[in-house]
Amino acid sequence: MWKTLLFCVLIVLWNYLWVRHLSGHPPRSMAAIVTDALVVGGPFALLFSLASWDQVRTIRGLHIRARIDPLAGVLNRQTFIGRFQKAVAQARCGMLLLIDADDFKRINDFHGHAVGDRCIAAIGNRLSWHLREEDLAGRIGGEEFAVFLPEVSREHGNVVARRLGQPVAFSDAAGEMHHSVTLSIGAVWTQPDQSPEDLLMLADEALYEAKSTGRARMIVIGEVEPVLLGSPRPDQPPARRGRSRQPPTHRPAA
Ligand code: GH3
Ligand code: MG
Ligand code: MG
Repeated sequence: MWKTLLFCVLIVLWNYLWVRHLSGHPPRSMAAIVTDALVVGGPFALLFSLASWDQVRTIRGLHIRARIDPLAGVLNRQTFIGRFQKAVAQARCGMLLLIDADDFKRINDFHGHAVGDRCIAAIGNRLSWHLREEDLAGRIGGEEFAVFLPEVSREHGNVVARRLGQPVAFSDAAGEMHHSVTLSIGAVWTQPDQSPEDLLMLADEALYEAKSTGRARMIVIGEVEPVLLGSPRPDQPPARRGRSRQPPTHRPAA
């Protein structure tokens, strides 16, 4: 809007300069100068502002697409890790969670990739729905998510983690087939003197333990007892017995 106004003012000024000082035409009233300028230049000003409004919208869209995972609606891996590193650098303590859907490959195999995608979207939706504005949530792999809860008390962190970790319900596109998937979580309480890479590695180790000791549970580094996170609905494809996860090695920083 202000650009259109500025454009109109410039047109009027130019017309004033032209009529009064440059053209050598007989002098005209100020009202006539302004009217002429707006009649001739107004449509250009409008066109110009429409074009730049469109440009602003496109640029905003690109910024959002560069940060947000389009399927899950949470931060993408690169943005999550960047923001998590920044939060740790600002000496913010908190709780880091790595959340992974259990036996997700089976959902793809039994119900199709499109239903698998809807499952990922439902997990992203769960995270977005339950988190505070200052929390971070990102999709860091296929069906793996990370959450950072900064400045959270132990009690509240555990409550939120349990809530996030409950089985997630989803359906096919027609809404006819309803499914649910259990989640496993690896968690670590972060300290300001730890590097973000080490923290992610610790959470990954905890997630590996959650997977290898039965899935549908949260393992918190430093705590002995697992937190059980509910069982799947009966229509979920049968779970595999073996481990599909590789033991954690080095997790490269983004
Ligand atoms: P675990 O319980 O040990 O985590 O087993 P899992 O089956 O969940 O994990 P696994 O790593 O064996 O399989 C993950 C699958 O996720 C494999 C891959 O094809 C699928 N996948 C990755 N990205 C996407 C995606 O964007 N959409 C869908 N539908 N599937 C995806
Ligand atoms: Mg999985
Ligand atoms: Mg995985």
